[in-house]
Amino acid sequence: MDCLFCKIIKGEIPSKKVYEDDHVYAFHDINPVAPVHVLTIPKKHITSLLDIQEEDKELIGHLHLALQKIAKQMGVDESGFRVITNTGKEGQQTVFHLHYHLVGGRQLDWKM
Ligand code: C5P
Repeated sequence: MDCLFCKIIKGEIPSKKVYEDDHVYAFHDINPVAPVHVLTIPKKHITSLLDIQEEDKELIGHLHLALQKIAKQMGVDESGFRVITNTGKEGQQTVFHLHYHLVGGRQLDWKM
């Protein structure tokens, strides 16, 4: 499958790893919009939020617990941060492998 983030998980495309476990991989966004901008992805290829299935419920819960760990690791758990998953064209999704932007390290407003 020709998926950029699947290639990042396999190490075929380089990334700056922040966190990894059996089911989740997280890395620094190459085009950060804030001092902390980490992408967290399931290792399983899921195209977008709309493609999450019943069978993925445990995985998505696990991913949220990983997001907690990553927020702490990046030092933004006390100051606050934002988690975003862009979905579809008007949601500005450009990579079609489910991913969660964890953004923080400065005061955010609604436009980021
Ligand atoms: O939500 P969206 O699909 O637009 O986000 C994709 C993100 O993947 C972008 O923020 C982009 O900077 C990031 N990216 C990356 N490494 C790549 C390609 C894209 O961090 N090699």
